Amino acid sequence: MADNFQTLKCPACQKEMTKVFVPSEGVNIDICLDGCGGMYFDTREFKYFDEQHENIDEILKAIEGKTFTPVNEKLPRTCPVCGARMVKNYTSTKQEVQIDECYACGGKFLDHGELEKIRAEYATEEDRRDDMMKAVYDTVGVEIKRLDAETAKLRAERSLMKKLFDKMIYG
Ligand SMILES: [Zn+2]
Ligand SMILES: [Zn+2]
Repeated sequence: MADNFQTLKCPACQKEMTKVFVPSEGVNIDICLDGCGGMYFDTREFKYFDEQHENIDEILKAIEGKTFTPVNEKLPRTCPVCGARMVKNYTSTKQEVQIDECYACGGKFLDHGELEKIRAEYATEEDRRDDMMKAVYDTVGVEIKRLDAETAKLRAERSLMKKLFDKMIYG
């Protein structure tokens, strides 16, 4: 969903969120400055801020020195943009940080402090992807090995049949 100027209600504490403009990316991030300190990113915003080399000064400046109300991070949340039930997902295979994602509009809600943790997980997007691929391979690797073994067996059978066939034809 495209960035708009509608005020969002924080999905964690129901307080009105504040738009924090990030000029370098030309986007507004919704931050719960008067409540829990949570942040809402729309589907295209998050990728500008999840890596260590990306600048989050504007976001840090906005939350600097503020005390936020703690919230129960385990509670289910509703997307403040489209009203769909959000889904809790780990941000990586390290399974350290869990954020709320909206599968309907692509929005992401991060509790206070989670953005910093996500950024600390990997140095680059490539490292994040590599780690994900490794995890995928670990899961499907077992299946691939089984298929490989089956293929090898089929190949052996085929070569045996060919030998028998050759013998029948050419003696
Ligand atoms: Zn809040
Ligand atoms: Zn949504």
